[in-house]
Formats: sequence, C-alpha cells, structure tokens
Amino acid sequence: MESVIVAIDGPSGTGKSSTSKAVAAELGLSYLDTGAQYRAITWWMISNGVDVDDPLAIASAAAKPVIESGTDPSAPTITVDGLDASGPIRTQAVTARVSAVSAVPEVRARITELQRSIAAAAEKGIVVEGRDIGTTVLPDADLKIFLTASPEARAARRSGELKGKEATDLATTRDALIKRDQADSSRKTSPLAKAGDAVEVDTTDLTLAQVIECVVTLVEEKRAAK
Ligand code: C5P
Repeated sequence: MESVIVAIDGPSGTGKSSTSKAVAAELGLSYLDTGAQYRAITWWMISNGVDVDDPLAIASAAAKPVIESGTDPSAPTITVDGLDASGPIRTQAVTARVSAVSAVPEVRARITELQRSIAAAAEKGIVVEGRDIGTTVLPDADLKIFLTASPEARAARRSGELKGKEATDLATTRDALIKRDQADSSRKTSPLAKAGDAVEVDTTDLTLAQVIECVVTLVEEKRAAK
C-alpha cells in the first residue's frame, strides 16, 4: 500500500483531534497533533520564566526546548526536555497564551521543521492536524481537509471536553474560542487558513462517526487513485 499524507486543518472545536486520531487508527497511519507541539513550547516558556508578552524574548528562547511527539494514534505522546507534557499543555494558563507564542516566526520555523521531519519518517503515511498544515507545513499532502462548524457547536464541544476539569460556562468558552481563532487567523506568519485545494467539511450537523467515515472515504479514494 502506498504511503499517504493527510492534512487536517480548521479552527478549535471542529472535531479535528478526534477525527484525525480515529482516521489514522482505522487506516494504520501515524498521527501528529501539531497544536500539542505549540502548546508544549508555550508551557516550556511559562515554566522557564520567559515573558510570553514579549515576542523578542520568545524568539530568542525558541530553539531551547527539546520537543518530542509520539505518533501512535491510539496513544499519542508529547514530551518537553524528556518530561511528559500531556497534562500541563491542556491547562487554561497554556490555552490562553498559546496563540501569542505560536505567532512568533522563530517558533513557527522551528516547529514546522520538526513537523516535516516527523511526516517524512512516517513510512505508511500520517494524518497531521493543525491550522497551517495544508497551506505551509505540507503543501504537497495527498489529501487536505478543512473542518468547520458553527461557533455554537464548537463551544458546546469544547465545553464538553472541559467538563470536570476547568469547566466554565458556555458563553465564556465561546468567547475564548473565538478570540483564539481570530488571533490564529490574523497573524502574519502562516495563519489559520483553508488551502485552495482543501476539501471543506462542515461538521455542525454531523456526528463524529459521520465525519470520520467521510474522511476515511476521501483517503481511500486518494489511495486508490495513486
Ligand atoms: O489545536 P489546538 O487547539 O491544541 O492548538 C493550540 C494552538 O496552537 C492554536 O490556537 C494555535 O495558536 C496553535 N497552532 C498553530 N498552528 C498549528 C496548530 C496549532 O499555530 N498548526
């Protein structure tokens, strides 16, 4: 079977992670969560006293942390300087600052290079999820998907994920999510954007199972045509 590279982009709460993991697992592909890498570098900056309101300070520290991603879709991992970062990267402190850190060109250059080397090493192929995968990181991907959903649906899903952890009310979650998407879409270096050749899937009225089935079918069609 030919190796296949799938890029899945879109704003927060569209079901990118759940879809990407399930598609990779079903098709025997590797999986990379690029948001986790930006969250990991943000966590390292906060933990090491870097002023995350200062782009110059972020830029000069960008090369320091060693970030490693495990690409098994059934048990993805993320470490920073050898420490498991999977818990801390999901905290509110990191979520609130990740857009500022990820907007710094030196951070993007470093993480983009890492992402390309991981994709190149995936023998059977890989599903890579993020914001700029189809446009910048892997412009030659075999298949590009852009997931969307209404702000209400996205906030409801994100609230469900946060339940019991750092739950806030729906309106607060919705406002924070919209703010982060605006920051991600308006930054100068590789903003959140749909690639011209991406297939857009609006997930507002679809179940997760339906989205997965849709993407699996698209990947199988691409593989058959290769
Ligand atoms: O996907 P997730 O919500 O974990 O992403 C966290 C943040 O990482 C995004 O809000 C964005 O600032 C950044 N990101 C990015 N480019 C990517 C993936 C994530 O800038 N490819």
